[in-house]
Amino acid sequence: MGIAENLQQIENQIPSHVKLIAVSKTKPNEMLLEAYNAGQRVFGENRPQELKQKQEELPKDIVWHFIGHPQSKQVKYFSSFVSLIHGVDGIKLLSVINKEGIKHNRVIDCLLQFHIANEETKFGLSMADAHELINSEAFKSLENVRVCGVMGMATNTDDENKIKEEFSALVDIFDSLKQTFFSENAAFSEISMGMSGDYKLAIEAGSTMVRVGSSIFGLRNYPK
Ligand SMILES: *Cc1c(COP(=O)(O)O)cnc(C)c1O
Repeated sequence: MGIAENLQQIENQIPSHVKLIAVSKTKPNEMLLEAYNAGQRVFGENRPQELKQKQEELPKDIVWHFIGHPQSKQVKYFSSFVSLIHGVDGIKLLSVINKEGIKHNRVIDCLLQFHIANEETKFGLSMADAHELINSEAFKSLENVRVCGVMGMATNTDDENKIKEEFSALVDIFDSLKQTFFSENAAFSEISMGMSGDYKLAIEAGSTMVRVGSSIFGLRNYPK
């Protein structure tokens, strides 16, 4: 099946309140344009220089999300235009993003990434880390970043119950943070979870944004 058909099939399975991020990392511009011409406007990338280059070359009404965990020195590649950074996990990175926001006279939206999987390789905060972060003076002084919710990745497993548990844990984290810190903040509203293999489970659990790559564009040549 082609990219337009894949997109249509996925859209048919996603309720209208859930946003589809088309994860186009490693894919050539022609493939992104195929998705664009089928109506897709939100794309996710996880390599800063690749994202910058695609932004320069592709239509300007594309909404770009950085879906990974950027290194501090790479934030500059996309800070002038990125719409949402999904993988933020600490004050150091938030401070860098804030500085970039000041430089470009904009407020940059971010999601806090939580560690919900078993795998050591996946980044993210614990609940205790998040409380410490949000309560810190350094965090409170950041005026050019806005925390809009949470992001997480489930364990890569066939065990659906395990995946469901992990997604439910992220929803609980969101609810608890909302109640404790963000009840007056309407922007704190997003739960980014779900990829090609598990987006249906994520939506059942309460996802508001799914990040789907290979089910739209086909398998990537490297395992990341
Ligand atoms: C690559 C990637 C995705 C998309 O993965 P697929 O399995 O191809 O859908 C989603 N989220 C993050 C953070 C990624 O790095």
